[in-house]
This record gives sequence, C-alpha cells and structure tokens, in this order.
Amino acid sequence: ENRKSLNFIEQIVENDLKEGKNDGRIQTRFPPEPNGYLHIGHAKAICLDFGIAENYGGICNLRFDDTNPVKEDVEYVDSIMEDIKWLGFHWENVYYASDYFQQLWDFAVKLIKEGKAYVDEQTAEEIAIQKGTPTIPGTNSPFRDRPIEESLELFNKMNSGEIPEGKMVLRAKIDMSSSNMHFRDPIIYRVIHIPHHRTGTTWKAYPMYDFAHGQSDYFEGVTHSLCTLEFEVHRPLYDWFLDQLADTDYRPRQIEFNRLNLTYTMMSKRKLLQLVQEKIVSGWDDPRMPTIAGMRRRGYTPRAIRNFIDSIGYTKYDGINDISLLEFAVREDLNAHVTRVSGVIDPIKLIITNYPEGKVEEMSTINNPEDESMGSRNLKFSRELWIEREDFMEDAPKKYFRLTPGSEVRLKSAYIVKCTGCKKDEEGNVIEVYAEYDPDTKSGMPEANRRVKGTIHWISVPHAMDAEVRLYDRLFLVEDPAGEKDKDFKELLNPDSLIIKKNCKVEEFLKDAKPGDSFQFQRIGYFNVDIESTPDNLVFNRTVALRDSWKK
Ligand code: ATP
Ligand code: MG
Ligand code: MG
Repeated sequence: ENRKSLNFIEQIVENDLKEGKNDGRIQTRFPPEPNGYLHIGHAKAICLDFGIAENYGGICNLRFDDTNPVKEDVEYVDSIMEDIKWLGFHWENVYYASDYFQQLWDFAVKLIKEGKAYVDEQTAEEIAIQKGTPTIPGTNSPFRDRPIEESLELFNKMNSGEIPEGKMVLRAKIDMSSSNMHFRDPIIYRVIHIPHHRTGTTWKAYPMYDFAHGQSDYFEGVTHSLCTLEFEVHRPLYDWFLDQLADTDYRPRQIEFNRLNLTYTMMSKRKLLQLVQEKIVSGWDDPRMPTIAGMRRRGYTPRAIRNFIDSIGYTKYDGINDISLLEFAVREDLNAHVTRVSGVIDPIKLIITNYPEGKVEEMSTINNPEDESMGSRNLKFSRELWIEREDFMEDAPKKYFRLTPGSEVRLKSAYIVKCTGCKKDEEGNVIEVYAEYDPDTKSGMPEANRRVKGTIHWISVPHAMDAEVRLYDRLFLVEDPAGEKDKDFKELLNPDSLIIKKNCKVEEFLKDAKPGDSFQFQRIGYFNVDIESTPDNLVFNRTVALRDSWKK
C-alpha cells in the first residue's frame, strides 16, 4: 500500500475513532467570514476540513462566520460557495453563525445571571490599558462587580439601539491576572448599528469571534474544529465557554495547524481588498491575485491546487512556502492534460522562398505526447509563416541553435529549413526572415528523421488568428511582502506583473476555444482563454511559463 503517512490531525482522528469517541462520528466545518474572496490559504483549510470528513466517513458543513456586519456582504457568500465547489468539495449543510444569534444571546444572559459576565462602560482604550501585559497582571474594571440586574438591563439596551457604538461592551468575568491574556475578562459582545446582511436590524449587540465560534461548533455537533495556529492561545477560552454552556460530555475539539503563506504574495484579506478597491488589480479575480477566483481565471486547475496543498502538508510550525512549488504543480497537471498548440507572442514573418506561392499543405501534429489518447490534428503550412522574433538572430553566438543566416532548423511537425537572410527597415529593424525548405525532410519522406539542433514553432500567415496575450508575473517583488512591516506594501508591487501583448498570433484551431480552456503554447508556457475573450477578440492569459525563469 503506497498510502502516505498520516499527518498529526489524521492521527488524532484515527485515534478518536479507535477509542469510539463521539460514537465514531466525524464532523468538521469550514468557517469563512464572508468579508472577502477565498484565497489559496483558505484552500489549505478547505482541503483539510472537507478531506478529513471525506476520508473518515464524516460530514463537513459550510458555516459562514458572519458576526461582523461592518465588513460582510452576500457577494462574498456567493463567491465562497462557488470556489469551494470548483475545488471539488461539497458541504453537507450551509449554516450561518447569525442563525445562532438568539442562542448566543441566551447563553450570554445565562453568564450574566451566574455572575460570569458584566457590562463595561469604559472606553476601548481604558479596557486595553487595564489588560496589563503577559508579565504584568491586569486591573479590574470599576464595573466588574456591578449588580447582575444592572448588567442585564444594560445588555438589553445594548441590543435595542439605545446605546451608541463603542459606549458599552459585555465582558466575561474570568481572571484579570491570568497568564493567558485571553482570560483577562474578554469582550464577548459589542454594539454595531450597521444592518446585517441576513438579520437586518434585528440585532444591535453582536458576539465576538471567540464567543461565537466554539458555541457554533457545539450547536452543530462538530467533533474536530480545525483552525490555524494563531488560535492556539484562544483554545483555553474556547474550552472555558463550552464548559459553562454544555450539560453533556460532548465537546468539539479545537486543533490548530500551520497556515499557508506563499512567497511573492500575501494572504491578508484586508490588503487584498485594498488592491481591489484602489484598482491596482482588476478585481478579486484578477489573475495575479492569490484568490481562488484569480487562480481559476488564470488557468490554475483544482487538481493542481489540491496536489500542491497535499505536497506541503500540515504541521505545527508556521513558515512560508515557495510559490514555485505551486507553479510546479500547475505545470505538471497542465503538461499531462492540455493540447499543445502554436502561439507566437512577438511575431515576425518567415518566408520560405523556394516554396510555391498559393500552396497549402496539411501537417499532422500530435496533440499531447504525454497522452496518446488525445490524438492528433492537422496544421496548415504555407509559404509565409509567423515565427517568434527571438527565434532569428542576424549575428548569433555559437550556441544559438535557431535561425541565423546559414543555419538549419526544423519547423515543428514540418520541414527543415535553412536560413538565407533577412530584410530590414530604414532603422535597421529586421522585418522579414528568409529561408529555403528541404522537401525531403517532411514526415514520411526519406530525410524525415534527419536531426538538426533546433526546432521552432510557426503559424501559417493566411491561417493565423490575432490574439491579445496577457503575460502575468508575480504580484510582489519581494519574497515576503507581509514581513516588510516598515514599508507600505504597495511600494513592493512588481510593476511588470502584467504585460499586455496585442499583436500575437495563434493557430486557427483555437477559434472555438472557450473561456477557461487551457493550452500549452509550445516552447513558451501554458495559456488559457480569458473570460473577456470573444471570437473576434481572442484574449489569452499566461497561466505559467514553461520553465521557472524568475530571477532573484
Ligand atoms: P482575515 O483575518 O484576513 O479576515 P481569516 O484568516 O480570518 O482572514 P476566515 O474567513 O476567517 O479568514 O478563514 C476561514 C478559515 O480559513 C479559518 O478556519 C482560517 O483559519 C482558515 N485560513 C485562513 N487563512 C488561512 C491560511 N493562510 N492558511 C490556512 N488556513 C487559513
Ligand atoms: Mg477574519
Ligand atoms: Mg478568521
């Protein structure tokens, strides 16, 4: 059996199953806050949450963690669902933390009645100062011991609209000198007057993340609540609330894993939103964005993303993964599955001077040498061909195995040609290249297998279509833009992250290509049809170059 070794979470789950915990039930959730689009970091959480459920016969629910109406929107809810489905996962149920607002409210009231929560009227600054530091104990709020009845009355007012934002909060009464800062009377409710995208103006008091998350897990019956490492220090509080709430032995268990960080990009939704709002990128689905929508538009496949996530694994140590690993996974997947075509990014005309004018031949070419079942197709060949400008050089160095006067190259799937010269304009720019072909070197002819050092791609001029090609590169110039704390992240953007080439040529085979379809442009890279592409105005995105050419 070539099963990979279990990660630490799978080990926990298998152990729980062996011990018969929760009657063998496995239930996870993926809990996005609908305040932005999902990014590749979320994909890591998604693969784990849904993957554990799938592999162990359990269920995974999608839960929108919508406890802050200020930043949340239905646009994000819709995009999140689309992206999860696209990645190939399915949820059992869709839940919203806002569905639990009443239950959470009732629980908060219970805590107040038990003397375990109180309304604090201090400012946020005062509360922050009293918190102390990990080595200096905090000080009690002057409102800490106010009568229970008073807190109950004020808590109701926090929710009725009588209390302005920022004037009062509800705090759990735990321990202002605890070594865990999260135990120092954490705020559990605050006042927000902005309408909520689902509950409208019903509520004015909103639970904080720490108060909503564990309880939501509990209400739903989650067995394993998987989250990223920064929540490790919140776990004792997660457990404390559940101990106050639960009247059975059942408890969801929070387990933390390392978040995904990738070089040359960043995952902060706040900063990604800024790029969108300031129109530095074209939208959340700009192909340079680390979002799932951006990667989809760029031509990354769900399989490549999942293979990448699989390859990096889950640990207890934060770090930063090299984006070239993701690009490698994309290349590997596309290499195996997409058709190879000719695309010329920077065209120059090659004229085969000894080839009859008006003649057109069909050249058979293999669609993908990695997969015989993909078959072959015919390419039209004629006297005038588009080739890549950089495939000709008048004064070439010795190891230049492309076209230079006197040299021979093979035109892929067609003839061997010998370069005879070129024509230049008044400024000395090469405008045409000339060659003569050897009729015996075509497939099926006596010299079909004659070897020359170089092979180049081409497109017959009368059979070519114009296309716009968008060359995408890394969004940031530095490896860890999030780590450059003293710089505005916008100064770190790569000014060449998008280069638009307008006069490219592609084979007519691509005329029926649909947005999303992917191809290998031979010798150049992988490209897909952009969503803005139309039959009259073809647009291709460079998904990834054939080789990693990033210079550090
Ligand atoms: P932000 O703080 O920018 O709002 P977030 O990380 O809080 O982003 P959520 O929508 O709350 O975003 O995340 C949903 C789930 O995805 C959480 O369980 C979270 O731990 C996980 N997640 C978010 N970012 C990453 C990441 N970079 N790597 C792995 N998991 C992540
Ligand atoms: Mg968040
Ligand atoms: Mg979060």
